[in-house]
Order: sequence, then structure tokens, then C-alpha cells
Amino acid sequence: MRPFVYTRAADVAAAGAAGREGGRFIGGGTNLLDLMKLQVETPAHLVDVNHLGTTEIEPCEGGLRIGAAVRNSDLAADENVRERYEVLSRALLSGASAQLRNKATTAGNLLQRTRCYYFYDTAKPCNKREPGAGCAAMEGFNRVHAILGGSAHCIATHPSDMAVAMRVLDARVETNRRVIPVSRLYTLPGDTPHIETVLEPGELITSVVLPPPAAGRQIYRKVRDRASYAFALVSVAAILDVRGGKIRDARFAFGGVAPMPWRHEEAEALLLDAPANEATADAFCDALLADAAGHGGNDFKILLLRRTVKAVLAQAAA
Ligand code: SF4
Repeated sequence: MRPFVYTRAADVAAAGAAGREGGRFIGGGTNLLDLMKLQVETPAHLVDVNHLGTTEIEPCEGGLRIGAAVRNSDLAADENVRERYEVLSRALLSGASAQLRNKATTAGNLLQRTRCYYFYDTAKPCNKREPGAGCAAMEGFNRVHAILGGSAHCIATHPSDMAVAMRVLDARVETNRRVIPVSRLYTLPGDTPHIETVLEPGELITSVVLPPPAAGRQIYRKVRDRASYAFALVSVAAILDVRGGKIRDARFAFGGVAPMPWRHEEAEALLLDAPANEATADAFCDALLADAAGHGGNDFKILLLRRTVKAVLAQAAA
């Protein structure tokens, strides 16, 4: 690890000022410290944002406001979250390990970086780590990579489970400057895969707001290589209102398949008032996967996603 200056921000304004001068915010550090040890990231200045009074979960406009520094384990265990936002609690508990969840923060979870192997291997070309270097995953071992939303320059996936639930819940991120829907927080890689969000220098996430949840059963289903402490190959967050065998309302978000939590509202519209059966799931998946492309090692994800959607719809209809 390279030497760096560490300061503890006294308030949000001081953190923002330090960030504008190149300081890198650190919350739980569960991802950033690994990146620093491997010298994938080499910040000269770490700005500790753990002590800014953003550790509360409180009612807000019929929903919830979650402080940026709320730990993942506290958020998953919160009574309101478990009762009204089950999809979020389940997504959180499916991620990482108990020790990591005790440390990881809400904002940090949203902003964690891809787990593409080549991004962490400084001996391999990676456009995200070093713009213009190339992408080792394109012709390499790409079993965990994206089938949607990637580009010729990067096919990395976003690793967060929590962000997928936030996406299906239509969460909004509050920063020291503005409010950003989670749907607009992330950017696709295009030819600038090193740019991952719309956040500007010095812009600090202070909280996340969950609106009142839509009616329906909340489901989070994660498919992975082992039952715990593994990232999603495919995950599905859904809120499905199924009555009398018909789908009255449907929201789906997907993880493990794209550079951001993925959603396809036009495909969701096909589900309204449709029978909750395999044919409907197939029509939805045909639209959802119309632009999907595998890269050899990850071709299986296209069928896996379709099967997982069918399982979730059957669970909601049962
Ligand atoms: Fe780097 Fe993205 Fe290619 Fe992975 S997929 S090697 S993160 S450019």
C-alpha cells in the first residue's frame, strides 16, 4: 500500500471541500482498502466520512430515509425495513459475510467497484483501471461478466445486491448537492468505463430515500456458485402483485448481468394484466433479453436469467 494522508471530516461541508481537492471518501472501507493494498487505487488523501451524523434510519414522506453511514447489517435488521422493504433486507443478507456487513455502509455499498478479476490484477490490461489499456476480459475468462449494457471497452458487472433492491424500490440518493434517482446514479461503460456514476468531485452521498413500497410480494432471488459469500451470477429483485392468477403490477430489477442494477420498464409493461404463467414470463424475457450478448464464458447467463425470472414469477403466483 502506498503512503496516504488520513483526515476525519468534521462535517459534510468539510468532506465536500476535501473531496473537491482530490480526497477519496472512505466509509467502511471494505472494498477500498483491498483496492489500495493491490494498488488498483492509490489515493493520496483519505477522507473519513464515518462521523458526519448520517447513521440514522428515519420515516420520510411515507417511506424511509437511510443515512449514508448506516451499516448494512443494521439496515437489514431494521424493523421497518424487514416489514415494508423485505426485498432490501433479503438482498443485504445475501451479500458478503456477517463481518463485512457489520462494517460496510449504505453509500459504500452503492459505490463499490466491480469484482472483475482483471480489474484487480495490475499485470493485465483493463480500461477501467487504466483508460485505453484494453480489456483482458473480452477474450479472457468472462464467466461472471455482463450480458447487458456492456461495451467493446468493458463488460464488468456491478457487484451490489443492495443496489438491485434499491433499484426495484425506486430509491433516491441524496448528496450534498442534489437528489439523484438510483436509476440515474450509474453510467454505462461506453468508451469511458473508468467513469461509473454521475457523481462529481466532492459530491458526497448523505442519505438514500425509499418511497412507500408498491403493493405486492417482494422477492429477492440470487443465483451464485455457493450458498454464501459469493457474488451473484444472476439476481432478481421483484415486487409482484398477482391476484386471481393475473399480474396486477410488476417491477423487476436484475443484478450480476450488467454494469449497473438493470431494469427494463417497457418489458415490465408487458406483464400488466397478463396471466402469471410461463408464456408471460417468456414474453417478458424476450423483451428483456433482446439485446443480451454473451462473450463465451458467460453465455449461460442468458438462459439462467430466463429461468430465474420464471422461478420468481411462480413463487409470486403460489
Ligand atoms: Fe477492466 Fe472492464 Fe475489461 Fe474487466 S471488463 S478487464 S473491468 S475493462
